[in-house]
Amino acid sequence: MAPKFNMSPLKNPMPTQDPMVRNGNFEEVALGYTAEMAIDEAKRCIGCKNRPCVAGCPVNIDIPGFIAKVAEGDFEGAYQVIAKDSSLPAVCGRVCPQESQCEGKCTRGIKAGCEAVSIGRLERFVADYHNANCTVKPVPAPSNGHKVAVIGSGPAGLTCAGDLAKLGYEVTVFEALHVAGGVLVYGIPEFRLPKSIVRQEVENLKSLGVKIETNMVIGRVLTIEELKSEYGFEAVFIGSGAGLPKFMNIPGESLKGVYSANEFLTRSNLMKAYLTGSHTPIQHGKCVAVVGGGNVAMDAARTAKRLGAEVHIIYRRGEEELPARKEEIEHAKEEGIIFDLLTNPTKILATPTDNPRDPSFGWVNGIECVRMELGEPDASGRRSPKVIEGSEFTIPVDCVIMSLGTSPNPLIKATTEGLVTLRRGEIAVDEVGKTSLEGVYCGGDAATGAATVIKAMGAGKVAAKAIDEYIQSK
Ligand SMILES: Cc1cc2nc3c(=O)[nH]c(=O)nc-3n(C[C@H](O)[C@H](O)[C@H](O)COP(=O)(O)OP(=O)(O)OC[C@H]3O[C@@H](n4cnc5c(N)ncnc54)[C@H](O)[C@@H]3O)c2cc1C
Repeated sequence: MAPKFNMSPLKNPMPTQDPMVRNGNFEEVALGYTAEMAIDEAKRCIGCKNRPCVAGCPVNIDIPGFIAKVAEGDFEGAYQVIAKDSSLPAVCGRVCPQESQCEGKCTRGIKAGCEAVSIGRLERFVADYHNANCTVKPVPAPSNGHKVAVIGSGPAGLTCAGDLAKLGYEVTVFEALHVAGGVLVYGIPEFRLPKSIVRQEVENLKSLGVKIETNMVIGRVLTIEELKSEYGFEAVFIGSGAGLPKFMNIPGESLKGVYSANEFLTRSNLMKAYLTGSHTPIQHGKCVAVVGGGNVAMDAARTAKRLGAEVHIIYRRGEEELPARKEEIEHAKEEGIIFDLLTNPTKILATPTDNPRDPSFGWVNGIECVRMELGEPDASGRRSPKVIEGSEFTIPVDCVIMSLGTSPNPLIKATTEGLVTLRRGEIAVDEVGKTSLEGVYCGGDAATGAATVIKAMGAGKVAAKAIDEYIQSK
């Protein structure tokens, strides 16, 4: 008889494309477990009584429950367990920061030298199995006659829409872009999250009866007030994300060849600039500087590499302080991204132009930087970087991508009277997502500032429940 548990201290490794091959294509990096690998990995879960992994999951998936099904080889059963709490498992299995959530709490990972059960890889396996094998389409619930509008089709909006549709609400999602999916389609690159997966999730929602209206910028085409008073929506959920990029305010940021990471990634992902023959303009730089050290910076750097550039990540603190996920940093390094750490840009330089009236009119040809050293920890516990005097130097680059974080877009606030926002533009909400306006709810990055997919989904779920209670109690 096969042993019940697999006591191997290490995870089954994820098969991946060879780094020197994948850095020249946009196909998915991680190839996914086979059924044998999934069963073997699932047997590493010992089904401990206190289930710390469940508490580590922002939507409280019954993780030991689904893993037990995988260990039995009942993959569809495992999917049904996950589907009770998560509507986007194929997405979350790929992009969730499991190491700081469910896997960070796993009992198997506590001892030195031992790794947590690979919950994310198992979730991805189960979702991919379901998507490849299940032909049953979700069916719409009988209508309860109430209408809800959802603004934005990212994970927060899609989750809120799906949960409400399952309760019988007539839900319309209004999306500013021409494709639904939010950051999942315009930000996260194809090689980490194939867009066919997001399309399938959106199609599932449509099968539930959710209407999706694209090219609808709420605040411009229609206001929230108009959605309520003229179009009969009894409640509105705002899931408009945090897509407004930050810059450093150093000289040269408006030169040609300087992008925000959001613009660069949108051109590549949503507008398909990476495809041969695409008409979307994008700088195919020979040498690209990406400023910042988060996950978005890694995505921009790895995209620029695949477009053929030598790529430098410029980050003012050290390796330990890099905010990106360890796995993303490792992948970037394997693919040949150069990390210029303890380095801070001071000026972006341009080729001299023959337009005497506008010296900033030229193309980028370099980035001037200074070396940094880390001082004592500040109030937040992070060591603050200090400039090393006289350390100026220049990296010759022909493209600069600024990846310094984003904040909520101010349009909804500017066009919605009485909607209270916080200091950085986040829409103020209570614990169930209720805003300062009657019948208007909000969740995801629009309320928290840039966060994670699973947190946005969690907020969409909580708000859907609150919207249902609000409408039913009227
Ligand atoms: C490049 C990148 C990589 C990331 N990688 C990861 C990762 O690996 N793992 C992870 O967990 N998180 C990651 N994140 C963060 C994660 O994607 C976000 O936290 C999450 O998508 C937020 O979901 P949301 O639904 O709140 O907003 P979004 O996904 O931003 O969706 C908001 C939607 O609202 C639309 N919208 C905005 N304004 C309006 C308007 N006025 N009218 C109509 N529609 C509007 C937008 O076009 C957009 O489609 C990444 C983010 C970026 C940018």
